[in-house]
Amino acid sequence: MKAAIYPGSFDPVTYGHLDIIKRASYIFDELTISVLNNVKKTPLFSVEERVKILEEATKDIPNVKIESFSGLLVDYARQKDAHVIVRGLRAITDFEYELQNAQTNRLLSKEELDTMFFTTSLEYAYLSSTTVKEIASFGGDISSCVPDFVGRMIYEKYGIRR
Ligand code: ADP
Repeated sequence: MKAAIYPGSFDPVTYGHLDIIKRASYIFDELTISVLNNVKKTPLFSVEERVKILEEATKDIPNVKIESFSGLLVDYARQKDAHVIVRGLRAITDFEYELQNAQTNRLLSKEELDTMFFTTSLEYAYLSSTTVKEIASFGGDISSCVPDFVGRMIYEKYGIRR
């Protein structure tokens, strides 16, 4: 069975992430979306909230499951006996960071863990959770960026009524 992990912050999930999730779910038998509990970042949504949002947003994709993890990705992947990491690539700016992570994970895992990149669909090339939160915090329209229920949750966090 071909299994892969798609790790990320997903604070919160956007249509850009969902596009990668759908495309990866066609290729792998099982795709685990792993929400990183990063103590160094102050997220808008708690890990529990991000997991719940992802569960709802992917409920129609049968071979996807959601988990959370903290610590080193290589350790988590080893525990799960997974050998493939899925990541998305947007503009060139993603490349350097992603390449560094991929190389480091390969090294740390003694070449047991490889990263597979999905290039963004053009309509989502400039979409990021950070941008979505910034637009929403000023009451802007994010309906083309995230599913409606996610949009409502973001506005609620900022105390904005629309
Ligand atoms: P990070 O894990 O770096 O904190 P995210 O949770 O936002 O960031 O993203 C997880 C992964 O999804 C990263 O590989 C990122 O490049 C990718 N990604 C995010 N937004 C998009 C998008 N609009 N199109 C394609 N890939 C994306």
